[in-house]
Amino acid sequence: MSGRPRPVVVPMLFLSLGLVAALGAACRPAAEAPATSAEQAPPAWAIAIHGGAGSLSRDEPKERREALRRSLGEALTLGQVILDEGGSALDAVEKVVALLEDDPLFNAGRGAVFTSDGRITFDASIMDGRDLSAGAVGFVEGVRHPITLARRVMRRTPHVLFVGRGAEAFAKSEGLEFMPAEWFWTDRRRRQWEEWQRRQADDQAARHPAPPDDGIGFGTVGAVALDREGHLAAATSTGGITGKAWGRVGDSPIVGAGTYADDRFVAVSCTGKGERFIVHAVAHEIAARIRHDGAGLEEAVAGVLEEDLAPGDGGVIAVSPRGELVLRFTTPSMLRGAADARGRFEVELF
Ligand code: ASP
Repeated sequence: MSGRPRPVVVPMLFLSLGLVAALGAACRPAAEAPATSAEQAPPAWAIAIHGGAGSLSRDEPKERREALRRSLGEALTLGQVILDEGGSALDAVEKVVALLEDDPLFNAGRGAVFTSDGRITFDASIMDGRDLSAGAVGFVEGVRHPITLARRVMRRTPHVLFVGRGAEAFAKSEGLEFMPAEWFWTDRRRRQWEEWQRRQADDQAARHPAPPDDGIGFGTVGAVALDREGHLAAATSTGGITGKAWGRVGDSPIVGAGTYADDRFVAVSCTGKGERFIVHAVAHEIAARIRHDGAGLEEAVAGVLEEDLAPGDGGVIAVSPRGELVLRFTTPSMLRGAADARGRFEVELF
């Protein structure tokens, strides 16, 4: 777990944020001026991030809990600065997810989980709520930032989803960065894989590797954002589930399952047991409940998690066009953060 990259940009962002905070209310943008009361005015921008649903223990060593909080705080700060300075929701979610992909603490990019045969393969997707354009990649190896590859698919091809070798060839043709396999490996993920292998050996009946339910292999990172222009975007990136079978692709690159964004209704990023999120088309179902049932954001998210999914299946982050944020989960933990133009800035693990 050593050698974690510390982008120079982050301390600078903290400095810039400190300045913003020091200037305080005097710098509040006009868009935040209260209509009738401060409570009723929607925030000019809002962002939520997640670092995966799972079963992180409250007994986890303090240093690890603090490191997770610090990493989430840095990612949230990056999104906060981009949105506060007028950047797009799409840029915010891509950059935040790319930062988390480089962080070995999370199951995406560097630090992702191992497949049944000891490889690391990535799934990612991004969606632009302005026009429902989307890009996604599945079963990709070696690409440093799968989320950036997904965005290239969205912007530079007429397609939505690229997989495997074709996706890697496209990444090369776009000049995206590749890293050697060992760069993505961490001791922690290798230990989880070894533990998974021991359990498989014990289970003679297992015809295919099954994802463990105790959270040793959960993870995924994601972000949803509303920008000052009123646009929504969502992004999700993952290594999947420890011991996933050769060729298995989860919900994260499936638009409508793990990711969805529509300026009119909601932006959603999911984490959890991908197969369950796929069959319930969770991200789109949340949008559909808002669109067709007139459900509020909280009601729509809770309805899907509690009526369609089972306890322990995972979690969701979502943002509405009014900047409401919902971060909800049915697992013991979901690493997460929320910030908005009204000064909200929270990072939570449990
Ligand atoms: N949803 C991801 C997958 O099934 C895993 C996760 O979110 O932890 O690939």
